[in-house]
Amino acid sequence: MKIKKINITLIAICLILGSCSKENETKIIEAELQIYIDLFVSEASDRAIEIDMSEINLGAYIENIEQNGTLGQCISYSDGSKEIVIDERSWERLDDLEKEYVVFHELGHCVLDRSHDNTQDNNGTCQSIMQSGEGQCQSRYNLNNRSQLLEELFKS
Ligand SMILES: [Zn+2]
Repeated sequence: MKIKKINITLIAICLILGSCSKENETKIIEAELQIYIDLFVSEASDRAIEIDMSEINLGAYIENIEQNGTLGQCISYSDGSKEIVIDERSWERLDDLEKEYVVFHELGHCVLDRSHDNTQDNNGTCQSIMQSGEGQCQSRYNLNNRSQLLEELFKS
């Protein structure tokens, strides 16, 4: 009974942290996410923002996120390392542009230290990739407004 109790506690802690015991592990960036991270660095560079990923101890993983409706998370650890976790079941359903959006949003938190911004225009369209997903605005990320939203993301 006691062991069972401990197990349940551990599971609960894992749920709160989003993942377990990766703090002191070597960080890995999964290949599927590396593509979008490279693209992020390149889009930043196009806007005169140089990001050196080797200076950031970042891991990026596609895993099951238990919290319902959570697409991705940026977790900051006390040792300065960071982790992006993208929900596996959601990821499989996203197209390329949606995958880019989710990874860029989490990199906005983890790399650019940005917080949420639910600013909307008169049509209710979100004006930032950093929208929380819980606000009033509608995210309409497409090839027409992509560059405008990237300008906003990398604004200094
Ligand atoms: Zn967010």
